[in-house]
Amino acid sequence: MTEAHPFRIGFAEALRIVRETGHERRLPAERVPLARARGRVLARDLAAPIALPSFDNAAMDGFALRAADVAAAGDGLRLVGEQFAGRAHDLRVGVGETVRITTGAALPAGADAVLMKENARVEGERVVALSTPAAGTHLRRAGEDVAVGDLVLRAGEPLNPARLALAAAMGIAELEVAARPTVAVFTTGDELRRPGEPLARGEIYDSNRVLLMGLLAELGLEPMALPALPDDPARMRAALADAAGAFDLVITCGGVSAGEKDHLPALLDTHGRIRFWKVRMKPGMPVLFGDWDRACILGLPGNPVSVLATFLTLGRGLLDALQGRPEAAHRLRARLVASWEKRHERLEFLRGRLQSAEDGSLVVHANPADGSHRMRAAADSDALIVMEEGARRYEAGSVVEVLRY
Ligand code: AMP
Ligand code: MG
Repeated sequence: MTEAHPFRIGFAEALRIVRETGHERRLPAERVPLARARGRVLARDLAAPIALPSFDNAAMDGFALRAADVAAAGDGLRLVGEQFAGRAHDLRVGVGETVRITTGAALPAGADAVLMKENARVEGERVVALSTPAAGTHLRRAGEDVAVGDLVLRAGEPLNPARLALAAAMGIAELEVAARPTVAVFTTGDELRRPGEPLARGEIYDSNRVLLMGLLAELGLEPMALPALPDDPARMRAALADAAGAFDLVITCGGVSAGEKDHLPALLDTHGRIRFWKVRMKPGMPVLFGDWDRACILGLPGNPVSVLATFLTLGRGLLDALQGRPEAAHRLRARLVASWEKRHERLEFLRGRLQSAEDGSLVVHANPADGSHRMRAAADSDALIVMEEGARRYEAGSVVEVLRY
């Protein structure tokens, strides 16, 4: 195999290559109705087409009036109409007059305050105020939330329910979002069996498939799980060639180290292009990245914790870049509860459990089980703790970056 490609590179360089590749292959935008836009990444800045509120309206149920009239009107104001939420009537509040109003209803012309229902006594056609509202009381002014033309949503932001609701409030029915990357997931290894099947000695259950499918689904993607591949280069080549022609991203796991059965690097080198192989990180060092036909290929190592570490960093970085999402999207920091002695140079990902501390800070308990096959420690945790390159002691209370999963 040629070794012209970057080999055993630093993590920052790997992330840079992955993001640059994702950027080069950035997916086109498409318009989707709001009901299908949740979790998608906005492709274009959105300026407000209308103001919010779009008309002056009541913030309370009660009576629309002219504040200056209340003190003057000893025997109450004359009730001249009703304006409920809905189409606005052509009402006007003149001197000494009032209009019954409900929350969200358009403020009649002439009125400059709303008297709460609870502070009013209605006597036939007259309304006696039990308090004296100042001008502007219980009103929502047109444009006080959003003015026409305001930049309200930014390209690269994921659309959560509140952002979609804001778009809906402005009457927008469709949004332009980044196309969602299509992703194929392959696990590899002669030892793999599906949960539910019997196991022979030496075989193990395929746990990475459900892990990867879940991690991808949590990013709002709809990955396709393809059959587990045997450690047979011809079968691997055929399956990967098919997938490489059909998907934006093919994720494999296993078969990227230096063992006799680790065929993926040579296959990618022959049929596609390796952009890097091996990264100075622990776990996850043998990770492989490149492209083949129309797909990016991300070859994750087989150990489950390596899958977590490489997917949450490089995999997510790539998927974000393909959709035009900025880098710092998932950044979170926490304080270590206990000290940690990092005895080697490589960047390390420990498992940890996040907790909200009494003082309002976020703290993380590192799990000492650091073997990359230790599934239970991963399941007992909810984040990876990033321990930077270089050996050093982290004191209790040190601030570290964490990747929540
Ligand atoms: P490999 O990278 O193929 O050498 O695999 C490294 C380790 O991860 C081996 O112990 C494999 O048995 C294990 N492994 C590989 N694929 C999976 C999988 N899909 N589920 C669980 N363990 C796996
Ligand atoms: Mg293997």
